[in-house]
Amino acid sequence: MIRSARELGVATVAVYSQADVASRPVREADEAVCIGPAASAQSYLNQTAIIMAALTTGAEAIHPGYGFLAENADFAALCADEGLVFIGPSPDAIARMGNKNVARQTATDAGVPTVPGSDGALESAEEALMVAEKIGYPVLVKASAGGGGKGMRLAEESDLLPHQFVAAKTEAKAAFGDDTVYLEKYLGRPKHIEIQILVDRDGRGVYLFERDCSVQRRHQKLIEEAPSSVLTPQLREEMGQAALRLAATVGYEGAGTVEFLYDDSGSVPRFYFMEMNTRVQVEHPVSEQITGVDIIAAQIRIAAGQPLGITQDDLRLTSHAIEFRINAEDPAAGFRPSPGIATKFVPPGGFGIRVDTHLETGASVPPYYDSLIAKLIVSGRTRFETIARARRALAEFEVEGLATTIDFHRSVLEVPAFVAGDYRTDFIEEEMPELG
Ligand code: ADP
Repeated sequence: MIRSARELGVATVAVYSQADVASRPVREADEAVCIGPAASAQSYLNQTAIIMAALTTGAEAIHPGYGFLAENADFAALCADEGLVFIGPSPDAIARMGNKNVARQTATDAGVPTVPGSDGALESAEEALMVAEKIGYPVLVKASAGGGGKGMRLAEESDLLPHQFVAAKTEAKAAFGDDTVYLEKYLGRPKHIEIQILVDRDGRGVYLFERDCSVQRRHQKLIEEAPSSVLTPQLREEMGQAALRLAATVGYEGAGTVEFLYDDSGSVPRFYFMEMNTRVQVEHPVSEQITGVDIIAAQIRIAAGQPLGITQDDLRLTSHAIEFRINAEDPAAGFRPSPGIATKFVPPGGFGIRVDTHLETGASVPPYYDSLIAKLIVSGRTRFETIARARRALAEFEVEGLATTIDFHRSVLEVPAFVAGDYRTDFIEEEMPELG
């Protein structure tokens, strides 16, 4: 974010917690303001402290990043009340997409297919049983406020549903303070395919094609690639248009992602709306690499009221990109977080390699936040070339002092199903069961 802003000639102020005082973004921003102690509730989620930091430094706008308050409609409204530009969609658009249940209804209204399921929230286990009977098992109980794979419970048959209904509610209440749940048919072996969009204030929009995020562990993405091996040009266009239609329905502005499940178990492949993320996502660089569009810069320009400046016809699919999430986690120990000091951190380089990271040798990974420490994005003219380059890059990547997912990614690149592009959301369970 700091880099894109600098290229646009926009000065930056980083906000940080005491745990991040020595971090690179704090050094690299033009100014930096400490907003509280390590605990995120008192710093990165402290709306007043962040607004104060903006007002006292004379900032005009706030970029919310992709965690913490990035999808918080109240925070977006607070920014507006204080005369600050929130770099993102309106509070209303965030709220309408933030509740998955409401978002499903909005998608239906926009003529975008959704996974068969309940019409709205479920009041009781009895109601869940009735809906499940209608749509057929297996079913998934999902939290309306869900995110990060939390509050999602699978019921293979009716015996299990009442228990899973309560379990999902309890988990949702604990994680999001909201125990509203709904039901969806559980698709057997789908792909997670999402469409990146950009829409300017006048409603002109483009889709930056898709990302295939099907390599997941327990619903958490680990590898994302663009384009997907399975989409035909026609389906790609249909999904892109569906995403833009949905955005138009809520008056969306800025960068956003519409997530779909792709199901080719039937005679014709189908896609279903799953949710919309009203912010930039961790995996946005793969779309930047294949389109040449700086999504962060586009967000800033759109928030400043500038026109998009590109049309769909300007965008051509001529290359490939894969992102590997390098997490401070130990795959051999159930991907347990591995915070500590990186005694050595030497990322790969060379042609087609991009590494987005805040880490450096001697820096510490605090235990308080997400364990993502770097994103390795590899590009090539073809998928084949990209995979060969990724093997080379992962072999070069040196991290000491922390357990990481680097070796895990090396192993994935040796699995024939991945190399063939034929992988689904059950990839890890199926192909690497020892890590599931
Ligand atoms: P979250 O917001 O918690 O990440 P999502 O709704 O985006 O939850 O779903 C995360 C993942 O869960 C998807 O990428 C997919 O792997 C799986 N999933 C969600 N809904 C379904 C479904 N109806 N059938 C099969 N898998 C699903």
